[in-house]
Amino acid sequence: MTIEALPTFTQLPHPHATDAAKRAELLTNPGFGRLFTDHMVTIKYHVDKGWYEPQVEPYGPITLDPAASVLHYAQEIFEGMKAYRYDDGGVGLFRPEANARRFNASAKRMSMPQLPVDLFMESIKQLVSVDKDWVPTQAEASLYLRPFMFATEAFLGVRPAKEFLYTLIASPAGAYFASGPKPVTIWVSREYTRAAPGGTGTAKCGGNYAASLAAQAEAIENGCDQVVFLDAVERKYVDELGGMNLFFVYENDQVIYTPKLGTILPGITRDAIISLAGEAGWEVREVDYSLDRWREDANSGALTEVFACGTAAVITPVGTVREADGDFTISKAQAGKLTMQLRQTLLDLQHGRAEDRHGWVQRL
Ligand code: PMP
Repeated sequence: MTIEALPTFTQLPHPHATDAAKRAELLTNPGFGRLFTDHMVTIKYHVDKGWYEPQVEPYGPITLDPAASVLHYAQEIFEGMKAYRYDDGGVGLFRPEANARRFNASAKRMSMPQLPVDLFMESIKQLVSVDKDWVPTQAEASLYLRPFMFATEAFLGVRPAKEFLYTLIASPAGAYFASGPKPVTIWVSREYTRAAPGGTGTAKCGGNYAASLAAQAEAIENGCDQVVFLDAVERKYVDELGGMNLFFVYENDQVIYTPKLGTILPGITRDAIISLAGEAGWEVREVDYSLDRWREDANSGALTEVFACGTAAVITPVGTVREADGDFTISKAQAGKLTMQLRQTLLDLQHGRAEDRHGWVQRL
């Protein structure tokens, strides 16, 4: 679909939009995921009509038939991305087409319709433009964008639905680490796995996250911030955290390992880091990386840094790893050199402060 063929978005008036003073007050401490902008975008889909009635409307509740199949069989997918405030007051996105492509990959896995990339992009532009004043100005703050799609057809048979709703909402987010990145403590989940071969691990579907909550609760009960999942077959290799991918740095060898794709979510930050680290002279290997190797190399000191990455926290150092029978800790957990360097490179790119040699940055 070309830009010319895009349907026109209807703009519904907002009778009670937030005034500037109230918005400024809310934006002083937005936190994460609890505050929403004035508007949202919706686009309907019917198997016989395709996508129709795109509109920008006041943020508010959605009415659903109680038989809507998403409520029963969880046909739902989502994305997570950010709009960043630039030093000159402008606003930009980071690799938004990659999110659009991953959205469609998730849709395919969940038997849902493809949303044309141009329509996805247009929805983002429409919402960010109408709610531009909600993009925070503080360092490392951003406007988190949450596109999602779910089955609305009222039908209790188990088959792909014929009707869907695509929705886009936005939520101002403060700096993830108010006083600089702090190493996270990780719990090794032995009881639960996240994804099996042939399952839905590579899709960003709500069900994956519902299934991860018990493991995350176990992590918290054990005094940890995050859970790491092992592969579902051998329970030996590291997959990823609940919402972040992992990298293992061997400074003396100038090598970085990261779990290969297959059952993990193909993170867009992960992909950017593989390019950036390669360009900085590191060899990046996508491999099966075992927990035993992690423990042994952390203890011997060969493994110098471990970091997790994702849209929310950008890059965060990993410190202690906790198992039922003991802990081990990575030596330079506080602020490893490469961890901090890659973090700054990414932040500079995302906030429009660095030369964009990859064509990743899109100013709105
Ligand atoms: N793994 C999982 C399970 C996630 O939910 C996320 C966040 N989308 C990531 C990894 C990191 O992906 P990205 O870099 O695209 O945010």
